Amino acid sequence: MRTDLIFNNTEIAFSLKSDSELERAYFLFKMISVAPLVKIGAVATNLALKANLPIEGLIRSTVFDHFCGGVNENDCVSVIDKLYTKKVCSVLDYSVEGKENEDEFDAAMHKILEIIDFAKAKEAIPIAVFKPSGFGRFALYEKMSSRKALTEKEQAEWDRVVLRYDKVCAKAKKNDVAILIDAEESWMQEAADILVTQMMKKYNTEKPIVFNTLQMYRHDRLKFLEVEHEVAQRENYFLGYKLVRGAYMEKENERAEELNYKSPICASKAHTDQNFNAGLRYMLENLDDISLFAGTHNEDSAYLLMDLMEEKGLAPNDSRIWFGQLYGMSDHISFNLSKKGYNVAKYIPFGPVKDVMPYLIRRAEENTSVAGQTGRELALLAMEKQRRKAL
Ligand SMILES: Cc1cc2nc3c(=O)[nH]c(=O)nc-3n(C[C@H](O)[C@H](O)[C@H](O)COP(=O)(O)OP(=O)(O)OC[C@H]3O[C@@H](n4cnc5c(N)ncnc54)[C@H](O)[C@@H]3O)c2cc1C
Repeated sequence: MRTDLIFNNTEIAFSLKSDSELERAYFLFKMISVAPLVKIGAVATNLALKANLPIEGLIRSTVFDHFCGGVNENDCVSVIDKLYTKKVCSVLDYSVEGKENEDEFDAAMHKILEIIDFAKAKEAIPIAVFKPSGFGRFALYEKMSSRKALTEKEQAEWDRVVLRYDKVCAKAKKNDVAILIDAEESWMQEAADILVTQMMKKYNTEKPIVFNTLQMYRHDRLKFLEVEHEVAQRENYFLGYKLVRGAYMEKENERAEELNYKSPICASKAHTDQNFNAGLRYMLENLDDISLFAGTHNEDSAYLLMDLMEEKGLAPNDSRIWFGQLYGMSDHISFNLSKKGYNVAKYIPFGPVKDVMPYLIRRAEENTSVAGQTGRELALLAMEKQRRKAL
């Protein structure tokens, strides 16, 4: 049993928060802990934004400022600098979602290219990220994944998606900035996986630059990792994976039920936890070939990874292992890890308020539906308020 429970240290966790910021965070988590409020709030906010009602100010001063770095990358600089005073790095996450046309996909690609240039030689931003659906139509990934033949026009469209990935990965390699590619719904993910593997093969020849994402709530991902590993060994390139549990569980289960196929999601939370931890173990056993970005807010998994690193005699700042959390969440994990010398990076979402709403709604819903997560944030914030009061 671990005796050194470093994540309980709220002084380190919230050292960057003023008293009023602490109060604001407490108030916010209190609000989003009320599930019906989040449900009604999400619907009302979307309607109000569609009707051009002036509610942006309200969103900005509440959820947006808590979970996002700003509207553009320059807005995020002060957040990035502040985090880096505690050696917590940033992953600038252009969180504009739900785009559907070629101009928007090109614009997203240009934004990511700009970010990779912006990050070049900046120690505080060693990693960039993009979402597959930011670079191509969801329905196109879906059709590719279903292995139906594409029309000539669709094939040309897919070729443009490939080109966008290629430009971004080439620039990432040139600027020596790792590039994480997020994972999304299983019914579009296979096409993205095949493409990311191609990119790894092309650009991970000297070290891992391109990272795919493994959603370990899927029961098939460990096998997938093993197979990908075999191929990479045979063909001599490095692998990089962001390991997460997965954010689309309800959607996945609902679709499987509706269309009457076996859900790709593990049968229980315990099974997902086991699968996630097995993924960590596999990657730690094969670190010479595979680098790891562990994207998790789960304390047990973070402690397990620390223990595995210690067992293997690895330095906390081993360049092949990163811990990742989202901005505005689980600071107790991020800041206590960085204090102990581990590599830590937080996703800093940014973008116009209206466009990041799907991201914000997911965060709010996750904080109501993930048992314990909001309760934990609230308890930690309350502990820190109490500690400061007693000074
Ligand atoms: C830096 C970072 C990057 C991320 N990138 C992605 C990404 O690219 N794609 C993506 O999908 N998600 C991504 N996520 C979100 C992530 O997948 C999780 O939704 C979130 O982090 C909560 O999981 P957790 O590991 O923190 O731990 P926990 O809070 O312990 O686990 C919650 C998760 O467990 C799983 N779960 C819950 N109940 C059950 C059940 N009954 N049966 C089976 N499984 C269950 C679900 O995945 C749920 O989200 C990212 C998260 C972080 C921190």
